[in-house]
Amino acid sequence: MREVYHNIFIEELLLPNNPLKYLNVFIIKGESRSMIIDCGFNMEETKEIILNIFEKHGLDFDNTILYLTHLHSDHVGLATFLREKGVEVYISQVDGDILNNPDATWDATYKNAMLQGLSEDNFKIEEHPGYKYAITGKLDYTEAVIGDSLKIGDYDFEIIDLSGHTPGMTGLYEKEHRLLFCGDHILQRITPNITFWGFEYGDSLGTYFKNLDKVYDMEIVHLFSSHRELVKDHRERIDELKLHHEKRLDEVRNALTLKRYSSIRDVTKQLHWDIRSNNFDEFPQSQKSFATGEAHAHLEHLRYRGEVDYIQKFEKLYYFLMI
Ligand SMILES: [Zn+2]
Repeated sequence: MREVYHNIFIEELLLPNNPLKYLNVFIIKGESRSMIIDCGFNMEETKEIILNIFEKHGLDFDNTILYLTHLHSDHVGLATFLREKGVEVYISQVDGDILNNPDATWDATYKNAMLQGLSEDNFKIEEHPGYKYAITGKLDYTEAVIGDSLKIGDYDFEIIDLSGHTPGMTGLYEKEHRLLFCGDHILQRITPNITFWGFEYGDSLGTYFKNLDKVYDMEIVHLFSSHRELVKDHRERIDELKLHHEKRLDEVRNALTLKRYSSIRDVTKQLHWDIRSNNFDEFPQSQKSFATGEAHAHLEHLRYRGEVDYIQKFEKLYYFLMI
């Protein structure tokens, strides 16, 4: 247990067999009600850990809000489990809707993998960690509305839009104390995964950039992010993240010069990846779709900038440079 600010505690919740290692769970204590932010994968061993956190901090199920920053299973897995115990759960409607329509969501994930060219990799949804450790059943939630305030103890949090990493990610900003709980928007050492969610969700990398710029301009003394150590200087880290993606966009442009028409899988193979496999063909199954999803988000961003376009042949997309 670590008090990181007055009445704000951080607990590291184990994410078994996952490269992210831990989820930073934040507990904000108030007199009449308290709040816990995010809750980890849906696994027996993590259920026990989360119940211990409630006990250790003297949290009452009936007087505690669970605030979910976004729909990823490492953040929401135990939400229905806690809801059944009486905890009120908040999440944005955009992410809540995706979460409560798992069949449509996983169908779309499969279709996107096919658009990206993963038919030749024997792509299976069942091996996706987000699928394996998702919530049980449907989540009965209260909508977290952008601009609304949530008062806990001495704090008055404003719900802010941090979409990009997921279509409906939100954060909590406390203006007076200059605190921001940012979910996976800005992480130290790790580059948050930006993926293609489907054409109806638009340019996710562009949305992410817009929300990085927004946070850049905010006054923040403590940035509470969901994984690894806390970010000390948000502006310095945002500059690094933007530079990373600009380099990535250059890699994508270069990859597209190799062929007249490239599948997303072709482009992905040309990019540099921090993973202990010699080449794309040896990537673990789930990493392949993370990788092609990321490449696809960068290709779509270039399309929004007017630099590339695509054609579709059967179930696969092929991108090409227009300039
Ligand atoms: Zn996430």
